[in-house]
Amino acid sequence: MYGIIATWRMSLEGISEAADMLKKSADAGDSIETAIRAVEDFEFYKSVGYGGLPNEEMEVELDAAFMDGDTLDVGCVGAIKDYANPVSIARMLSKEPVNNFLVGAGAEKYAHRHGFERKNMLTERAKIHYHNRVKETTENTELKPYSGHDTVGMVCLDDKGHMTAATSTSGLFMKHAGRVGDSPVSGSGFYVDSEVGGASATGLGEDVMKGCVSYEIVRLMKEGKTPQEACDIAVNTFDKELKKRRGKAGDMSLIAMNNKGEWGVTTNIEGFSFAVATENEEPTVYLVKFDENHKQYFEVASKEWMDNYMATRTAPLVRK
Ligand code: ASP
Repeated sequence: MYGIIATWRMSLEGISEAADMLKKSADAGDSIETAIRAVEDFEFYKSVGYGGLPNEEMEVELDAAFMDGDTLDVGCVGAIKDYANPVSIARMLSKEPVNNFLVGAGAEKYAHRHGFERKNMLTERAKIHYHNRVKETTENTELKPYSGHDTVGMVCLDDKGHMTAATSTSGLFMKHAGRVGDSPVSGSGFYVDSEVGGASATGLGEDVMKGCVSYEIVRLMKEGKTPQEACDIAVNTFDKELKKRRGKAGDMSLIAMNNKGEWGVTTNIEGFSFAVATENEEPTVYLVKFDENHKQYFEVASKEWMDNYMATRTAPLVRK
């Protein structure tokens, strides 16, 4: 069995490429890296890689991670600037004996030394988003994820039972310089163990990190829960806990897959989408909906929804 699951509609092109590779018995490490790079390279996805949204100083600082579920190797970069594919840098870091998590200038030096592609990641479109946001938020300085905040997080299983997890994001729009979210933090933004399964998160990193939610899902799967049960328990319990202790819970959407290729997804927000491909399922985008009892269910995205998604992403932007 092989499979790959990923947060948000934006992962579809990437997981489709990965599914083609997995079909031909490619490794879970190569497949997930290819899938994440596709999202990083597409400039219209405004929260990952090229075209990602800048911080409050109008600089694009990226976070990414890679984890190998066989060896439990983890490699991560935080707040890295001017490199095209943070996930590939993270993957190389995962193979180092030490120094696996590098941030800022140190991460950039490492990338330079190893010949990774340098690129100015700030696009004209991202600059327009920035200027418009500055205009809108002059009186409102509270740290809030902008609507549509997204991390691409994935879990992959190949036909030899090797599993990987990886993430990539520009984090919160208008974050402080140097802010790092959950996405490159093991156990919070991602976790994978080939003997069990893996999970990955998108949402408000500051809250996801309070609960190590990805690790909690893998732990629950190890206890025998299905991916869906594990996601439901971990996300809903922690959402309640945050509300009880802090009066509110940030956005949290988690995806998971076990080592049989079964998957699960739980979110505490409206409007979450995700994409899956397995040996038994062509690459598919699902939308998470809630019924009148606030019970979540999944709906395959319609052609109209998909067309509208791409049209809005690529529509011309005007500076206000
Ligand atoms: N989790 C990311 C962060 O806090 C943002 C997101 O997934 O939207 O950096």
